[in-house]
Order: sequence, then structure tokens, then C-alpha cells
Amino acid sequence: MSELVVEILEDFLGNHRKHYKNKGQISFDCPVCSDIKGLDTGDGKGNLEVNYNHHVYKCWACSETYGTHGTINKLIRQYGNNTHLKQYRLVIPPEKKKTIINSHATIEGLPKSFTPLLIERDNQQYREAIQYLKKRNIDLNLIRKYNIGYAVSGDYRGRVIFPSYDEDGEINYYVGRSYEKYTKLKYKNPEVSKMEIIFNEGKINWDSNIYLVEGVFDHLSIPNSIPMLGKVLNDLLFHKLMSKAEAKVIIVLDADAKNDAIKLYKKLNSGRLRNKVLIVNMPERFDISDVHQKLGSKGVVKLLTTAKKIKESLL
Ligand SMILES: [Zn+2]
Repeated sequence: MSELVVEILEDFLGNHRKHYKNKGQISFDCPVCSDIKGLDTGDGKGNLEVNYNHHVYKCWACSETYGTHGTINKLIRQYGNNTHLKQYRLVIPPEKKKTIINSHATIEGLPKSFTPLLIERDNQQYREAIQYLKKRNIDLNLIRKYNIGYAVSGDYRGRVIFPSYDEDGEINYYVGRSYEKYTKLKYKNPEVSKMEIIFNEGKINWDSNIYLVEGVFDHLSIPNSIPMLGKVLNDLLFHKLMSKAEAKVIIVLDADAKNDAIKLYKKLNSGRLRNKVLIVNMPERFDISDVHQKLGSKGVVKLLTTAKKIKESLL
């Protein structure tokens, strides 16, 4: 079926650039990017990536600004014609159609008022948000790396927003943390179950050591970490770790969660991961983001090197 999909896409996007058949991933010159540059033909960059296994597309250059991302159906509706749409519907196998209909546990991108913090702005809210992050030892590099933003209006006003990207670079979740001192609700999240997502799954390197942490601030403190958004591992993440983690899995929960950490250790230390799970003993009353806030990356690294296995006899 891949050849047929490629044929349909090439008919309105022009020749493809790269094609990774095993991943179902193929790239084209983005029509929006080319148009912005005033070109009638492609810009030669190949920034528009389509994954026909997952039925999605995204432009790595302009998706945030122009909304150049979504389902292949959307792509065809915007740049192709009805014939392409009909052909595409004939080509995708019936079981895929079913998964498209069933996959409703998704959100429609970031809140409308999301504004990246990387671009300096001359307003009080921008300054407050930056000040709050600075206090927590989160610098511009981290802001860039995780595309942290804020909102000046709407439901997420007065909050710093941490986006979560899935494997296809699509937003699958976000966390809004209030930066105001007196607030009823510290955290505000979208109405999607935390149980059905893996936060920043798209940023995980499954071949390296993976750190399991509780919250987004812990996540920002340790490279290649996954925040569980709580103290409990969801099934989706459990199965992914069991099947995809190639190196060690290191548990870094808050000091008040020692029992949860041991439970988690027992659960993960089996099958492919047996003897590859470690645990960090957090200093009393600390979590890893406190360590990062007070001692910086060096303090974090120092603590992480103390990770060890638990003796079988103690389990
Ligand atoms: Zn583009």
C-alpha cells in the first residue's frame, strides 16, 4: 500500500525527498514554507514529513506558526483534491480506518493562547513567567529544548505551559503550572487521561538509560527522563519500557515515595529488564527538581551516580 500512498501524495506535493519505508515515513517540500518564500516550486528543504503508518503529517519548520500538521486527510483536503481523497480512502486498509475512528484520546494541539517563551516579549506576564522559571533554575536552553511557553489570555493565563510531543511530533498533552504565588490550582492539564499518554514520548532515546521521574520539573532536570505525572506507572508506559528500553531504567522518585519506588522497581525488574533497573535514594524531603534548583546539573549528576539495584533478599 505504501507505493500507492506515495503516488497520491506526489501528485499534489511533488517528488518526495526521503523515504523510510520501515517507519512509513516520507518527506516532501512543505507547500506553506515554499509559498512563504514566494516560490512556485518546492524549496528543496523537505521539511514536511508524512507518516502513512500513523496517518499524520507535520512540517518541522512552520507547524507551530501555521498549523501545518494533522491527519493525512487534512493534508489532502488542504492541498490535494477530491480525487486524491477518494483514492486515499480506497488505499488505506480497513483496520487502519477503524483505529482512526477509535483514537479519540487525543487533544487538538496546545491552548490557543500558547506563546513560546523563547521569543522575548515586552509584557509583565512574560517577565513574571521567566522570573518564575529562573527561580527554579530553568534557563533559556531548557526553554528552547522543551518549547516552554506561557499564556496571556484564556484558561491558561498566568501559567507556564510545558508541551508534550508524541512520536510523530504531535502534541499529545501539556501541563500548565501557575507562576502566581497565591493560586487555588497549581497545575492545570487538558481533559485527556494521563493514563493514555507518554509525556514527551517523541523525545525519548530508547537506546540510552531512561530515568523515570514524577513531574515535569523533574523531567526538565534530567535528560532522557519520562515524567509519570504522578507516582504510578501507566500501563502504556510499562509496556513500552518492557519492549523498547535497551539500556537501564533508573527510578528517581521523590523522597516521600520510597514505597512507590520499590513497588515500581519490583514491577519493572523482570523479563528483558531483569537486572537492568536501578533506584536512586532521594535525600529526605527532596525531589530531583529541588536538587537541580539548589545544586544545578552537577548536583543532579552526582546524585544520579548513586543509583543502585536492590538486593533480592531485601525485596
Ligand atoms: Zn512548512
